[in-house]
Amino acid sequence: MEDALCSGLLLITGGPGTGKTTILNGILELLGQMQLRCLLAAPTGRAAKRLTEVTGEEASTIHRLLEATIDTNSGEMYFVRDEENPLKTDVIIVDECQFLLPEQIDQLRSIVNDYNIPVMCFGLRTDFQTKMFEGSRRLFEIADTIDEIKSTCSCGRKTIVNARIDSNGDIITVGEQVEIGGNDRYIAVCRKCWRNKRIEHSDRNSLPFDK
Ligand SMILES: [Zn+2]
Repeated sequence: MEDALCSGLLLITGGPGTGKTTILNGILELLGQMQLRCLLAAPTGRAAKRLTEVTGEEASTIHRLLEATIDTNSGEMYFVRDEENPLKTDVIIVDECQFLLPEQIDQLRSIVNDYNIPVMCFGLRTDFQTKMFEGSRRLFEIADTIDEIKSTCSCGRKTIVNARIDSNGDIITVGEQVEIGGNDRYIAVCRKCWRNKRIEHSDRNSLPFDK
């Protein structure tokens, strides 16, 4: 925990079903014990609502957190907080960071640099076709520390692919990176099982994952 608080911009990656929520709640509990204030945020209103549900703490959208403003001249988004108006928190935790824009990751980096506030980012490394998400790529480029929540595939190997499964529980490998409003679900599997489209029957009912 102290490592996390000293590590500036931290990325914690872990696929669906790898215990990310348990770790997140453990961190929140520890922060509470240390009497440290924490701001929770997620990329969308829907993701923020779910984050509130699983943690019991209020979560906002990343837009609200950053109070992003568009410069009408340049069209650029910028961070409006300044020295006289600092963020009132000791730690920031952002969930589903894979869906953040690279510019938003840079804004989080600025919070670390300018205000010395640690930012913990939770997110997926890659999509269901093993391609890196935009937000995750930027985090891999600029994070101070990258931690991986390891998990084991039903065959015993390390999970590496966040497989998309359809309503029948079968692995699908074609489609958009983000399926808005789709009914697809996700499960972490090893590369070999993903390639062979093999999935344990008992794993076919994994929880829905944010779109
Ligand atoms: Zn496997």
